[in-house]
Amino acid sequence: MAVLKKQGIELAGIHVLIGFSQGDMKRRVCEGVPPAQIAEEKSRRFSDLLGIPVEAPDLSREFLEVLRNPRHGYGRNINPCIDCKIFMMRKARERMEALNADFVFTGEVLGQRPMSQNRDALRTVERESGLAGRLLRPLSARLLPPTEAEQKGLVDRAKLLDIQGRSRKRQLELAPLLGVTGYGAPAGGCALTDENFAKRYLDRTGYPGPEPPGPEDMFLMSMGRHLRISPRTLLVVGRNLCENEYLESVWARGPLATTPDHPGPTVLIIGDPDEADLEAAASVTARYSDGKGMPSVKVIVSGGGVAREFDAAPAGDGDLDRWRI
Ligand code: SF4
Repeated sequence: MAVLKKQGIELAGIHVLIGFSQGDMKRRVCEGVPPAQIAEEKSRRFSDLLGIPVEAPDLSREFLEVLRNPRHGYGRNINPCIDCKIFMMRKARERMEALNADFVFTGEVLGQRPMSQNRDALRTVERESGLAGRLLRPLSARLLPPTEAEQKGLVDRAKLLDIQGRSRKRQLELAPLLGVTGYGAPAGGCALTDENFAKRYLDRTGYPGPEPPGPEDMFLMSMGRHLRISPRTLLVVGRNLCENEYLESVWARGPLATTPDHPGPTVLIIGDPDEADLEAAASVTARYSDGKGMPSVKVIVSGGGVAREFDAAPAGDGDLDRWRI
């Protein structure tokens, strides 16, 4: 943005929220901030920071379809990076058309990410988003074919850059010269690239329930301990106060297991538990409570049509190792 602003070009922004920023997921779980509020805050923050109008639509539900069936496949974990970029660029194209603007540009750098920012991937994203010839990458433009905006003289190609590769050195050197401050650390932060998150997602989608997982299920996958105790039943164990509170508020319909006589976790039971599953859930709840050294612990399971009380022996290490995802 700073590179183009310097050329006196009028800009508008879009920050597409697909729902997998680990920072945003943590805020949802630990601070109870709903996605709509996160989107509103981002729009305001980026607009202030950049001095241009920035829209930040929450498209997490729509993006789940991309995640389920990525045409270009997944990266190392369940990150469908090329399809994700196509999705985002389509949204940018729609904004461009709505504003009657001339082109779309991104801060992508050739070769910065092996899967989604190599030459072929950049071309694929441009073509499949309907932006052929109209997608400018100012930081690497001089290494790429000229776009229509450059050919028409709307942008001075000579003042664009030729950065490539994984290092951020040149961008960081350039930032103060262009007056760019307040940017985030160049860390990943997308849950879809996280190995543990991927395992939970694959487990969840490998044992289909009545409905495919929605955006709130994704928040659930980002927190707690997950234990697959049977093909029918999954447990999510809160690890601290904020995770327990999140389970008790957002997943109040339950069933939830707790230990009334000892400090302990709130445990969400997902699926269609039979008697053996409920007993296993009680033993896991007992194990993660302060009563774990006792021969048995009182566990209440309630919600979701279940109202039961168990005197449960805390689960052993072998069971936990077998069940943990
Ligand atoms: S890392 Fe995540 S947000 Fe980034 S392109 Fe890949 S899937 Fe999309």
